[in-house]
Amino acid sequence: MDCRTARLLLSFARPLVSELETSDAEALEKHLADCLECESIAHAERQADERLRLAMRDVPISPDFRSRLLGRLSYERRAWYRRWPIRHPRITAAAAALLVAAVGFSVYLSIRPAPGIDAVAIRDRAVEQRGASSDVVEKWFRDKYGVQTVAPPTFDYAYLDSFDLNGDRVPQLLFIRGNYRAHVWILSSKQFDVSSLIEQPRTESGGHTVEFQAHPANPSTIYLIEYTGPSLAGFLVEGQPAT
Ligand SMILES: [Zn+2]
Repeated sequence: MDCRTARLLLSFARPLVSELETSDAEALEKHLADCLECESIAHAERQADERLRLAMRDVPISPDFRSRLLGRLSYERRAWYRRWPIRHPRITAAAAALLVAAVGFSVYLSIRPAPGIDAVAIRDRAVEQRGASSDVVEKWFRDKYGVQTVAPPTFDYAYLDSFDLNGDRVPQLLFIRGNYRAHVWILSSKQFDVSSLIEQPRTESGGHTVEFQAHPANPSTIYLIEYTGPSLAGFLVEGQPAT
């Protein structure tokens, strides 16, 4: 396996290698064992995933939210049992139909064939995405996933390598310049408490820096940026303030 293929497959090897065919996973592991450069990228990817996971776990929830939620649920449940089933035979029938549908769906999930991975399509997409403009990025998320995004305006898209939704349906962009790279997650106020996240200070360790950045004009979008290298400045458009 060559380095180019290894790096493409890396995006599928996280966080679990199970998405890859066994032979691909083995070839990748073998390459990583032999190739210091790819192994260091793989290591950085794992760290980035872990940092994102931690950042999301730390999103604050108001202290009484849980008790209010539980109270509301138990109220709804009691109300539901009072009405059910004599007064509303049609609801009973609908509930039974839903149950049948749910069982059917879980059976379908358990017997459907495991999805394959098309290496050529992945390669073609990577080639197509490299250096795409912010407009192309936003259109791609809209057309493919129906997700409205605001791509970071301060970045120089000449260094854009690739982009996609990650597993948590958060749009993610990867910029690469020389030996350094910057991962950018686009966080929307629809999914995250952006006003408290943006208050979090920059954190740096082991050559990795993580920081949140506001959009210059759009208060409902912030960026979680994880990058390697001495500063983010090299990834930004000339004349943008280096952070
Ligand atoms: Zn390699």
